[in-house]
Amino acid sequence: MPKEDEAWVPRREAMVQLIRQRGIRDERVLSAMTAVRRHRYIPEPFRNARAYGDHPMPIGHGQTISQPYIVAYMTDILNVQPGEKILEIGTGSGYQAAVLAEMGAKVFSIEIVPELAEHAKAVLNAEGYGAVAVLAGDGYQGWPEYAPFDAIIVTCAPENVPEALVAQLKDDGRMIVPVGVGTQRLVILRKRGGQVIKEDDLAVRFVPMVKGTE
Ligand code: SAH
Repeated sequence: MPKEDEAWVPRREAMVQLIRQRGIRDERVLSAMTAVRRHRYIPEPFRNARAYGDHPMPIGHGQTISQPYIVAYMTDILNVQPGEKILEIGTGSGYQAAVLAEMGAKVFSIEIVPELAEHAKAVLNAEGYGAVAVLAGDGYQGWPEYAPFDAIIVTCAPENVPEALVAQLKDDGRMIVPVGVGTQRLVILRKRGGQVIKEDDLAVRFVPMVKGTE
């Protein structure tokens, strides 16, 4: 391991320990978050010792890398299996995409800010997750060329669940999305025999999902 990384290791382990204490028990999620070097996804001007604190951090362009516990929580709910096709809306730093890739998923991620998409692509490549497909574009349309997906994770908050995304979910697929303006709730959707089952979950705070070409 390169020397510069050593100081980060205990911080990363402490982060995972805290997530475990807060109730995340899936060892696959915990070991992926132990493996992925979170600080690398935070652009250098914003990177500091707080990189592993349990809070979001700025990454530029008014956007943030999500709080580690929320990343773990949403990943846990998705119950990702190796080889599954996952669509992420809101690549941001690329960190969530890396966690999913580390768990063996085939990840497709869409980011509306081109500079962030470029940054995420570069870090994912450098960190060994070059197989993650990143698209600079508007997430409301999903990624029809690669649909349907086993799971969809939205990491920015739309006012309502985008129907185009629900349509790109496989039967037996799962989707998690923060919904609302100001106060948001995580909404969990499951498709079963063509029916969509919807469940409200935690109150959360994500950046709004920007309306692009919609
Ligand atoms: N998952 C990210 C955190 C994302 S923050 C991580 O692990 O770091 C939310 C991101 O959603 C921001 O980068 C923002 O630019 C992006 N976003 C907002 N509206 C969007 C849209 N309509 N389509 C795609 N991305 C969008």
